[in-house]
Amino acid sequence: MFTGIYCRYNGYFVMRRISIFGATGSVGQNTVSIIKRNPSAFDVHAVTGALNIELLAQTAIGLNAKVAVTSESNLLDHLKECLKGTGISAKSGRHALMEVAADPVDVSMSAVVGFAGLELSLEMARHGQTLALANKESLVCGGALLRETCDRAGTKLFPVDSEHSAIFQALNGEKLSDVERIILTASGGPFLHSSFAEMADVTPIQAADHPNWSMGKRISIDSASMFNKAMEVIETKELFNIPSDKIEVIIHPQSIIHSMVGYKDGSIIAQMGPADMCGAIGYALYWPNRTDAGVERLDFATLSKLEFCAVDDSRFPAISIAHSAMKQGGIAGAVFNAAKEQSLDLFLENKIKFLDMADMVAKTVQATATFGNCEASSMDKISKADKWSREFVLNLVEMSE
Ligand code: NDP
Ligand code: MG
Repeated sequence: MFTGIYCRYNGYFVMRRISIFGATGSVGQNTVSIIKRNPSAFDVHAVTGALNIELLAQTAIGLNAKVAVTSESNLLDHLKECLKGTGISAKSGRHALMEVAADPVDVSMSAVVGFAGLELSLEMARHGQTLALANKESLVCGGALLRETCDRAGTKLFPVDSEHSAIFQALNGEKLSDVERIILTASGGPFLHSSFAEMADVTPIQAADHPNWSMGKRISIDSASMFNKAMEVIETKELFNIPSDKIEVIIHPQSIIHSMVGYKDGSIIAQMGPADMCGAIGYALYWPNRTDAGVERLDFATLSKLEFCAVDDSRFPAISIAHSAMKQGGIAGAVFNAAKEQSLDLFLENKIKFLDMADMVAKTVQATATFGNCEASSMDKISKADKWSREFVLNLVEMSE
């Protein structure tokens, strides 16, 4: 029986108190839509966002939340104005986010984008009962630390990323020792069939145009470069405690199979569904029960084909770079993530080209030893590695100008 890092929730489903971090984002709004389908199942404590104040206020009002928090202190007056007369408390700033992350709830949804989500995930893990984790950066930068924090607090950790939800579902009732391999599927993104030369000149708008999944801008561009899949390989290793050489990636353009687990008898269990994040989010929120999260049903009679092909490493080197980071271990995951985030910022600012991102990340990960690798055992160590990595990328760009 697979137990991994989870504890079975034995009770019946009762109304649960929930906080949603990153409520104004793509995962956040999907979470909101699932809660609204069955409002009596959840008592919403807090919703948080950053820049999108009107949506934050509208979400807080729509869910009858107790508190709304924006990470941006200069937007507090605007938030207060939007919430005037509702009785919902308005807060702002990083400190307020951390305070609210420490408020005890039954379920915390961690759906802030980027490295900013790690410290919040750790705080939610210390104080929540269940951590529904969309913020993959938490595992890539501080997987062991997050797992330990959950273990110490007795917090259940559920994956929200669709591939990891698929793996979790395919492992259900199985022994981890029987697992031979994990096969992560990747859509291949918008440039699956583009030549190297064509990819050299793509714009952020083209890169953010994902063929199958509707997601936030940053993860969509990461999907186009396959850095998202590279992050997910590390995420798999950290979440399921699986050696990296047992994790494979296969391109599956239809995004119907969300990932698979191969067992030592040659059998493979795949989890399927439409490309809709509500499936994975609903599973994490309602486990061990299932809910109708509004996901369309697959019609196999009209599904003409399921295709698969290998990843072209020369056009998509991100996964090899992730393997190099995993081989180094320790703080290298945080270095990898920060270099990827910094390169993406530079691409969005039109300061570097699409293919330069992989180049920058590869060079930075390679240089991890010059920073001094160490265990990613505290927020302080991880933050220092994050800062060093971002500066390293900026120096690379400066030197190339
Ligand atoms: P979005 O960009 O759509 O949303 C991000 C959320 O975080 C928004 O609420 C945003 O606020 C908030 N935010 C941004 N910066 C900060 C900050 N510094 N401090 C606090 N809050 C901040 O992202 P996604 O929903 O796409 O992704 C969220 C996480 O889930 C990412 O880690 C992503 O990799 C992961 N994920 C996403 C999937 C998807 O389908 N989108 C699938 C699987 C994983 P505002 O918008 O108000 O500025
Ligand atoms: Mg995913």
